[in-house]
Amino acid sequence: MSHKKRSIIVVRESEIQGKGVFAKTRIRKGRCIIEYTGERITPDEETRRYDDEAMERHHTFLFHVDEETTIDGAVGGSDARFINHSCDPNCEAVDDEGRIYIYAMKTIHGGDELLYDYNFELDEDDDEEITKRYVCHCGSPNCRGTILNTEATE
Ligand SMILES: [Zn+2]
Repeated sequence: MSHKKRSIIVVRESEIQGKGVFAKTRIRKGRCIIEYTGERITPDEETRRYDDEAMERHHTFLFHVDEETTIDGAVGGSDARFINHSCDPNCEAVDDEGRIYIYAMKTIHGGDELLYDYNFELDEDDDEEITKRYVCHCGSPNCRGTILNTEATE
């Protein structure tokens, strides 16, 4: 018998994209599931590492905390980096003084994929070609067609 703490989530192939995170058991609404961890980097470092022009698709392992901080989940990040985007999510990312936690927005059943709304915001100078890389394939009936935040106001 192992005394290792039993995880409530598992990473496996997703129908939406690449890998996804799935509930191994019922997760009650409001529960904190996992912290989104990884290396904390500046926007300049983010640009140095991930040149938008060179990316075929959006980067899924980045979490924008604020104007000064991005978490790069590709560097020592938790399984939270594998959580896919959905326009009809069952999870939400909550900023607690700069640390990001994924909470269940509704009760999630065993086997369900964990999803949150990325609501990505692009730089003002990003053009249509770049915008196209953020197309959404979540498959939900109310899919807005992009993982970008379309409600952002300048
Ligand atoms: Zn969608």
